[in-house]
Amino acid sequence: MMSSHENASAHPSEQPTESKLNSQPLLTLSHLSKSYYVKKSIFGKTHQIKAVREIDLEVFKGETLGLIGESGSGKTTLSHLILGLTQHDSGTIKFNGIDPKYLRRDVQIVFQYTFGALDPLKSVYELISEPLKLHHIQFEGTLEDEVSRLLSLVGLSSGLMYRKTIEISGGQKQRIGIARAIASRPKFLILDEPVSALDISVQGQIVNLLIKLKKDLGLTYLFITHDLKIARHLSDRLAVMYQGSLIEIASTESILSNPQMAYTKKLLGNLFSEDTNDM
Ligand code: ADP
Ligand code: MG
Repeated sequence: MMSSHENASAHPSEQPTESKLNSQPLLTLSHLSKSYYVKKSIFGKTHQIKAVREIDLEVFKGETLGLIGESGSGKTTLSHLILGLTQHDSGTIKFNGIDPKYLRRDVQIVFQYTFGALDPLKSVYELISEPLKLHHIQFEGTLEDEVSRLLSLVGLSSGLMYRKTIEISGGQKQRIGIARAIASRPKFLILDEPVSALDISVQGQIVNLLIKLKKDLGLTYLFITHDLKIARHLSDRLAVMYQGSLIEIASTESILSNPQMAYTKKLLGNLFSEDTNDM
């Protein structure tokens, strides 16, 4: 597997991205592995699924790293390992030198907010207050003021504050999910298919919101998607997962113009031929 540095030297004409020039890795994964053991039937043998295999990965401060790969390649498992939601079998995870499971404020995740992902009986105010209370976040003014500030950051009116999520649209729910993730003032966001459940028109709005928030709040993104058009629109670098392994990582431009692995070529071909809507 190529590291970003080996890759940079393999393509001397390629300009290093700003993030690589200016910073140390914020997140470093070394030899990270995780298997699941499942029984196919009650009498069957236990079957090992190597969901994440010996992954080495660095994410640099200020970059967006797009993580692509087909369904089942291990992207979500990798994100859960980083967050400490799932325990890894071997390897290490360092965020600024520390295991991020001790830094829950700093590393947050935005999921796909499909129906039911946010408690439909809670108000928007309650949903956004939860992470503020959980992480004991200090802010100026009242809790209501802070919820209102977060709503405006994600482009929602404070008039929504006492509505229940059952009463609002998919795009609004996704914005509330994002408001919850940024409430603790994190440095790093993992976005796991954050727009996959939304209509195309709404996808573009959420993608633009994420680009703006990254800039305004100085965030670093690990952006997981199977949608290559979104990945290439957002990402400084792309990492490709295949059956639990990270098989290729390079600048977005060089992955698209000069993929090294046969699997990447095939994946790019499939993803581009799926539909022709441009972001
Ligand atoms: P992706 O997000 O790329 O679709 P996942 O990380 O969800 O991939 O899954 C990777 C592999 O691990 C798949 O084979 C999946 O079936 C398996 N897997 C994921 N979560 C579990 C689990 N909790 N128990 C057993 N197998 C799992
Ligand atoms: Mg997934």
